[in-house]
Amino acid sequence: MANLLQEYANVAGEDVVDHLRQLAAPLEGMKVVHVNSTRVGGGVAEILAKLVPLKQELGIDVTWEVIAGEADFYATTKAFHNGLQGNRVDIAKDRLRDFESTNERNAEELRSTLEAADMVFVHDPQPAPLLGLVPERRGKWIWRCHIDVSRPHRPVWRYLRNFVAGYDASIFSLAAFAQNLPHVQYLIPPSIDPLSDKNAPLPDAALRAIYEEFGIDPDRELMLQVSRFDRFKDPVGVIEAYRLAKKFSPGLQLVLAGGAATDDPEGAAVLEETKSAAGDDPDVHILLLPPDAHRTINALQRVADIVLQKSTREGFGLTVAEAMWKGKPVIGGDTGGIRLQIVNDHTGFLVSTPEGAALRIRYLLHHRDRLAEMGEEARSYVRENFLLTRHLREYLTVMVALANRAEDRIEL
Ligand code: UDP
Repeated sequence: MANLLQEYANVAGEDVVDHLRQLAAPLEGMKVVHVNSTRVGGGVAEILAKLVPLKQELGIDVTWEVIAGEADFYATTKAFHNGLQGNRVDIAKDRLRDFESTNERNAEELRSTLEAADMVFVHDPQPAPLLGLVPERRGKWIWRCHIDVSRPHRPVWRYLRNFVAGYDASIFSLAAFAQNLPHVQYLIPPSIDPLSDKNAPLPDAALRAIYEEFGIDPDRELMLQVSRFDRFKDPVGVIEAYRLAKKFSPGLQLVLAGGAATDDPEGAAVLEETKSAAGDDPDVHILLLPPDAHRTINALQRVADIVLQKSTREGFGLTVAEAMWKGKPVIGGDTGGIRLQIVNDHTGFLVSTPEGAALRIRYLLHHRDRLAEMGEEARSYVRENFLLTRHLREYLTVMVALANRAEDRIEL
């Protein structure tokens, strides 16, 4: 018992786990259900795969249900996703009807579980209509939105809002994503899992192997950006910053690590732009990694001297927290969720141009003591603010608050 909690205590601190136990005590035995639309793949499933067993260890009677649908249903919900992130999408009426009837079928299946629950967390738009399909519910229902809805395509949000408005509360990742809704909204930023393959410590041999695998010289400085090939991640700007910084550090090498070009036509175009900006420079390595290359990314983040995330627009930027957790100050674009993570001159530097990035690269490479100090600050900042344990603590806090809504004072 309590093995998983102990593992987190070893990384995040005993006090952090004690605090979780304290918060969970009044919730003991509470029936909680999480509902989403996939058991594997994607950030939501990854988070639930960890949060659900942790809540169970804390004595909460929690289960995780997954709604099922046909290909058309997922095509529609993918269109919702794109629409919520700001793309203009037009969804036909029969598609919407299919979306609703898929939810009706799932409500039949899940009805008794959902009716009996004290608290139901419904994740993202796919299962959002369930609330209206379980009229005999007795618990509190919370809609948890993991999507960047800062500038949604209005018709899509108007349609989904009808399903969401009746919830008791909703949770968004950042203040910029909050919406006009007739209930209380909580803000819970994302987190990284310190025990996952992406973030757990690696043996030295795994780090040495990375140099060999990708032909990187371990005796020269290395700068890194890990990102999908997307214009908002500004890979060409990273190459410009590298070129400017190389004038002062002639040995500098650059790795741009991203996913292989998939069916995303824009991704393929951005990859081509990036390759052509890199030209035939043998010190620029553009790596096309498979989606499960977590240990490779982990190793790259550990061996890099300098980590960039030069986005011009960013929801949160998990790569920033990932690198900071590995003791790297991050030079990041002054935008979106990157601003939550980079405390300028402490955990990294916020920049707006390749020139600004190059200046900071030069500074860190020439002040190794500052680089190490800022790296330590970065790691502590992630330990305090962006680990899974903080994420769980905030979920528990929301649960305590909602379970005691009528009280004006909550004894913890
Ligand atoms: N990532 C990955 N392979 C890649 C590029 C990115 O596994 O080729 C991971 C990265 O380590 C991070 C996530 O995908 O965990 C990207 O999240 P982030 O919030 O940084 O950006 P997004 O892609 O969601 O805009």
